[in-house]
Amino acid sequence: MTDELIQFINDTESPDIRQAIQVLPWKILVVDDDHEVHNTTQFVLRDQYVFGRPLCLLHAYSGLEAHKHLREHPDIAVALLDVVMETEQAGLDLVEYIRDELKLTECRIILRTGQPGYAPELAVIHEYDINDYRTKAELTHTRLISTVSAALRSYQQLYAIAQNRRGLELIVGAAADLMEQHAISGLAEGVLTQLTALFKLPLDGIVCTQKGALSGGDDQHCYVVSAAGRYARYIAQPLETLPDRRIVSAILASVSQGQHQFGTDYTVLYLKAAPHQEAAIFLDTEQALTALDRPLLEVFVANIAACFRNVKLVERLNYIAYHDPLTQLPNRLQFIADLDTVAQTQVDTVAALLDIDHFTDLNDGLGQDIGNMFLVAVAARLRTRLGPECRLARVGADVFGVLGPESQVNATNLLALFHDPFEVGEYQFPVTITMGLCRNLDNADSGITLLKRINIALNRAKRSLSAHYEYYLAEMEDNTRWRVEVIRHLRQDFQSGKLRVWYQPQIALATGAVTGFEALVRWPGDGTRGFIQPPDVFIPLAEYSGLIIQIGVWVLEQACAQYAQLAAAGFGSLKMAVNVSMAQFRKADLLEKVVYALEHYQMPPSLLELEITESIAMDEPKVVLQSLEALKQLGVQIAIDDFGTGYSSLGQLQSLPIDCLKIDRSFVSEIQQGKGGMYAETIVGLSQKLRVDSIAEGVETLEQAGFLRGLGCTTAQGYLYAPPMPAEQLNEWLRQYTKK
Ligand code: C2E
Ligand code: CA
Ligand code: CA
Repeated sequence: MTDELIQFINDTESPDIRQAIQVLPWKILVVDDDHEVHNTTQFVLRDQYVFGRPLCLLHAYSGLEAHKHLREHPDIAVALLDVVMETEQAGLDLVEYIRDELKLTECRIILRTGQPGYAPELAVIHEYDINDYRTKAELTHTRLISTVSAALRSYQQLYAIAQNRRGLELIVGAAADLMEQHAISGLAEGVLTQLTALFKLPLDGIVCTQKGALSGGDDQHCYVVSAAGRYARYIAQPLETLPDRRIVSAILASVSQGQHQFGTDYTVLYLKAAPHQEAAIFLDTEQALTALDRPLLEVFVANIAACFRNVKLVERLNYIAYHDPLTQLPNRLQFIADLDTVAQTQVDTVAALLDIDHFTDLNDGLGQDIGNMFLVAVAARLRTRLGPECRLARVGADVFGVLGPESQVNATNLLALFHDPFEVGEYQFPVTITMGLCRNLDNADSGITLLKRINIALNRAKRSLSAHYEYYLAEMEDNTRWRVEVIRHLRQDFQSGKLRVWYQPQIALATGAVTGFEALVRWPGDGTRGFIQPPDVFIPLAEYSGLIIQIGVWVLEQACAQYAQLAAAGFGSLKMAVNVSMAQFRKADLLEKVVYALEHYQMPPSLLELEITESIAMDEPKVVLQSLEALKQLGVQIAIDDFGTGYSSLGQLQSLPIDCLKIDRSFVSEIQQGKGGMYAETIVGLSQKLRVDSIAEGVETLEQAGFLRGLGCTTAQGYLYAPPMPAEQLNEWLRQYTKK
């Protein structure tokens, strides 16, 4: 059976009926095996309007046909059923089908029977919620109309109650959804959406709350936290900015009286989640909400209040998760989130990381409390001196993040913030900073990427001796990727034993005799491939990655082992010079490793010379001095490498327990064609004043050797005598050289 069987009471296509159809007719199901009953029913009910709606009859001639209609039209309002059809029980079976199978509880059922004897029992009438039971004879013209009307009224009420129940379920569901909302604005938006859906209103409304209910707001004013439709542009504005006074006064009345307001064309819901957490929700309802709607609203409000409480809690947790407890500034996570939003939106914004120089010294020297007070002071200065359009964060222990317009976030402006010293208690700290900055934030895909970039620039700046800041450039990153790859490769090759130590002889200038060797690490490639990278390239990377600590110990052991091998061959008086990096000094066990290597290879400590670069010795004397003194006590010799390239003062030099100054290659190469070398001369003179030896590196010509000898320089090292050589060649070279 199809929809063809749905016949309207009046089949004529008169325009007013057409219009009426659009008013949604009541669906009446007529089930009877007697065609005549269908005809009379149709005749009687045609043109009838009940509660302003026309009737639409669905006809079925058997119980089974009725099943189909019922399945397809769950909104059948009234079913007029014949009790006896294909079976004596067919009508009652249908009732059972409607109530038990299809669970259509709202549909009203009127049973009709030919004979009075077939009346169902009272219990059945109750159980199946049957509205009426009549003999067909009883259902005369007027009786039928009034019975159907009464049934429709009953259906309408039941339908409304069911709708409300659905509304309640919706509210409970909405509350569960809204519980997931962690921001007041998201919650408020959700509330509006749910409310307008619940009451089938256009999405148009306002949610206001005391600003004090939000983190960091004042208690004085109501603010629009969410709005939809034509009010959307007032979000985040004070309530008073709304041009419609009617709305403003309705919301204010609601908040001051602590009550809902029901106007003729609007409703304001009042919501109180906690003593200082109130909100008002304004809805344009066009007409007054019905009595049926109000209890629903009450339930809604009660449920939503719990959500608001929840949001407060989550906001608090969020605040904790995204803020630094010491300075109250946003933390690294928040900074990344800020960068994230900026990455997608703003164009002429600059992001910077400010790293306080030597903060650890301050913290170690004066204690953590002073250190903390100092950090708070830095945060306070950033807050007061930078405009509100700048976002700040504490990104690391002594690293601050700044994000804002280039007019403020630029190197000059930020460096200027640190011109004046910081006052902490009775102390005054002059402070310098190192910065990484990044422009063109919009061409990164995420906040994390941006933070990485600023970090790259910052690390660049830190490694530079002269610059206090660097702006990020794409080349830096390519360089970083390359560096990371080289480090990975180096670590792998070191661990699989592919590194080698080569040795370069050192010669006494006065006698021409070999005094010892400098151990120099090499990174050979596989087979015929020369070197993968020269030490000038990979040693700084090994230092940067910390790998130099392991490599350094290994070179030391190799050099001592080589000494033992030379001693066994009769060259037991030759020295071994080994380069030591800063990172090795920072590690507490350097002395232990040296002692171990010397003992293990039975090498006299005085034959081991450790070379440290001038910059190490002078920049961080605190770190090295103790170790140097302990090594010195042991009898190990100390040489200052690359001397002349740093900025040591005579006073500093005198305080270090050293045995030798190594004149940097660049000063030796100046010595040529009759022109002396002024620096070489000064350094040799200095070494004599300090009563320490001097070694010239990179001696390539006889002329240079002669000039240095003339100055009284003790030792020389360079291609003139020999390049660095693999261990296997040493014995042979020594034999050849000493023969001369
Ligand atoms: P350095 O300590 O100043 O080493 C001297 C460098 O000068 C060596 O370069 C050596 O091969 C080179 N050289 C020697 N004679 C001449 C010469 O006559 N002319 C010229 N132009 N160069 C000469 P190399 O081996 O490439 O080492 C470079 C740097 O790598 C070293 O400079 C040192 O700072 C570092 N290095 C090498 N091995 C180690 C090591 O085992 N540990 C540490 N920490 N650093 C190392
Ligand atoms: Ca050296
Ligand atoms: Ca050197």
